[in-house]
This record gives sequence, C-alpha cells and structure tokens, in this order.
Amino acid sequence: MRVVVAGGAGFLGSHLCERLLTDGAEVICLDNFATGRPDNVSNLRTHPRFELGCHDVTNFVHVAGPVDAVLHLASPASPLHYRDLPLETLMAGALGTRNLLGLARAKKARFLLASTSEVYGDPLVHPQTESYWGNVNPVGPRSMYDEAKRYAEALTTAYRITHETNTGIVRIFNTYGPRMRIDDGRAIPAFVAQALRGQPVTVAGDGSQTRSLCYVDDLVDGVLRMLRTDLPGPVNLGNPREMTILELAQLVVELCGTNVPITFVPRPVDDPMVRRPDITLARSQLGWEPRVDLRDGLAVAIAWFADALNLPAQAMAGRPRRSQLVDEAIPAPRRPGQDTVGLVGLRADGAAGSTT
Ligand code: NAD
Ligand code: UDP
Repeated sequence: MRVVVAGGAGFLGSHLCERLLTDGAEVICLDNFATGRPDNVSNLRTHPRFELGCHDVTNFVHVAGPVDAVLHLASPASPLHYRDLPLETLMAGALGTRNLLGLARAKKARFLLASTSEVYGDPLVHPQTESYWGNVNPVGPRSMYDEAKRYAEALTTAYRITHETNTGIVRIFNTYGPRMRIDDGRAIPAFVAQALRGQPVTVAGDGSQTRSLCYVDDLVDGVLRMLRTDLPGPVNLGNPREMTILELAQLVVELCGTNVPITFVPRPVDDPMVRRPDITLARSQLGWEPRVDLRDGLAVAIAWFADALNLPAQAMAGRPRRSQLVDEAIPAPRRPGQDTVGLVGLRADGAAGSTT
C-alpha cells in the first residue's frame, strides 16, 4: 500500500506515518511545516519506505507512481495557530482539499479527510452524533477553522457523488499525546508546561466547560480502520470520557507532582461549552473503541513533555511508558548509503514529484 500523508510532519500525521510504516505501507509525507516540525519525523528519515516532501498542498500536488490512499491532515489545528493563520487555514481546507481530492481521483485512491468536532461548533446537542448539523458562528474567531472543515466535508462529499471518488470523513475530537507542540496553546500542553515549570495553571472561565480526551494511539487506530474501509462517513473518532477543564487541570497538576495553584483567566469567545463524541457509529462500523485510560495516557504525555522541556516530571516513577500502552515506536532501518531525508522533489511550478 502506497499512502500520501498530507500534514504528516504534524502531531497526528507523524504518528500516522509511523504506524503505517509499521504496518508495511510505503509513506509519502507532504508538509509545509506551517505548524509541524521536521523533528516529528526525524526517527523515520532513513526508513526505506518513507519519503518526506516540503510542499504546500494549496499548490497543485503531483506524486509520481501509483497511490492507494491519500490522508488529508494538512491544516493548522490549535485555536492559537488557526487564529494566527486564518487565510492559510481557510485555503488548506479549500484548495488543499481540492488538490488532494484531485490526486486521489487521478490515482483511483481512497481519500480520507481529517475533519473535526469543531464542525459541531458550540453544540446544542449532547453528546454529538454525526447526524447533528452543528451550531457554528460563520464570522467568529474560530470560523476560519470550523468553516474550512465544513467546506472540506462538502467538497469531499461532492467528489464522491460527482466523480465517484472513494472518500471518507472522520471527525476527530480532542486528541493528545507525545509530539504536541508545547506552545500551541491547547489545554494539555499549556497545563503540563505550566505545572512542570512551577507556574500557575491557567483555566479559562470557571473551568466548567467540558472536553473528552483521546490518546493519540487510539485515534490513529480509528483513522486507519476507517482508511481500510470504503465507508463515506462522517464518523466521529474520540474518547467519550468527558470531564470539565477544571478537573483536567487538577489531574495534570497531580500527575506532574507539583503543587502549583490554578488561576482563572477569561474564556475565549465562542469556546464550546460541552464536547463529547457519540461513537456508536465507529463502534458498529469500524469495531473501534478507545483503550487507553486517561491517567495512563497523560502520564506518558507528561513524561514526553518533561523530556522535551528538559525538566523533571516528579511523579513519573511507576507510571507506564508508551511501550506499555501500545506498540513500541518502530525502529528506523537505514537504507545502505542513505543519510539524508528521502525527498519528494519540488518541480519548478511548486508541485511535488517523487525522486524515487
Ligand atoms: P498539527 O498542526 O500538528 O499538524 C498539521 C500539519 O499540517 C502540520 O505539520 C502543518 O505544518 C501541516 N500543514 C498545514 N498547512 C499545510 C499546507 N497548506 N500544506 C502542507 N502542510 C500543511 O495538528 P494536528 O493536531 O496533528 O492535526 C492534524 C489534523 O487533524 C488537522 O487537519 C486537524 O484539523 C485535525 N484534527 C486534529 C485534532 C487534535 O485534537 N489534534 C482534533 C480534530 C481534528
Ligand atoms: N483552556 C484553558 N486554559 C488554557 C488553554 C485552554 O482553560 O491555557 C481551555 C479552552 O478555553 C477550552 C479547553 O481548555 O475550553 C480546551 O481547549 P483546547 O485549545 O485544548 O481545545 P479546543 O477548544 O479546540 O477543544
């Protein structure tokens, strides 16, 4: 199986690339590093079935040779990032989706869109089922992301109907784990960095808003199950265990083993009040169920952040390592004579063309 992962150097994308390689696939990772980092895939750089191309998918995407699947994760994803990159976010959802759908159509490949629980906006139906149309402010501070993803879903659906492209849509709920950017403003990296640095943990509002948090390996498992079907979706993927943000902050402080205070800061405009996926469809159609307990997953993520920050995670002793939750990260076998990143070369017109 030859798979293009757009946004593959990001948090979720890098875990997907890794898992696909473990499963025997050939992976072409395309990324413009707007919010992702080459470091996220540095452990894969010498893998013989891995290629990395620096490419902005809002430009025409060309990949030489056969392609069996195209995964579209290329979009800023944290509220801080999409607020700072509004036009880029809208174009990734619009032009990026069109180009990657075009690639999938030309190659007769399966296309999978990484959509989001944000399509439900500040939901009036709880928990969120796929049949709920959402409550989104089209001109609010989250609109560039929410509407880009809603448009991407519509375009994906139109390609399925008009061109009979084999498309699928997953709606991903809040996911966490190693390789999240510590500075991306999302609750878990923010709380962990604050707690580990001995700073007050900043809870927005009174902290009564809820989220449901899924460990990255569970999420990757769900995405790949969906990839291997012909189902159109949309299918919710997330962990239905719901908690308040205040409870999350308290748990992070406890697991970090520090005694920092919690401080209350203004809540962002249009911050959804509740969020919990109804995963009945994923259970029945994909046989998927998240398995990683929140405390265990958080402990692994905290240890990773502590490492990245070069700080001690004081309460880590006895906590599970990632390898005890899931499969160990794959080793990166070296191709004889290869010591640079496998590259999808850029053509003069900005399109990516495989060099191999
Ligand atoms: P991320 O920012 O770590 O990853 C996104 C990647 O896409 C980055 O590597 C970035 O550089 C790349 N990218 C952005 N615009 C691009 C472009 N025009 N061309 C090429 N590459 C581009 O974010 P993430 O959390 O890994 O999210 C990945 C995808 O999953 C996103 O599409 C996001 O909307 C979706 N998603 C994530 C979550 C979550 O909790 N992490 C929840 C819902 C949906
Ligand atoms: N949040 C918070 N303090 C922070 C960062 C986030 O209380 O330092 C809150 C945020 O207002 C929201 C929740 O945590 O209510 C989850 O925010 P995140 O940015 O992680 O994800 P999203 O809002 O996209 O679900």
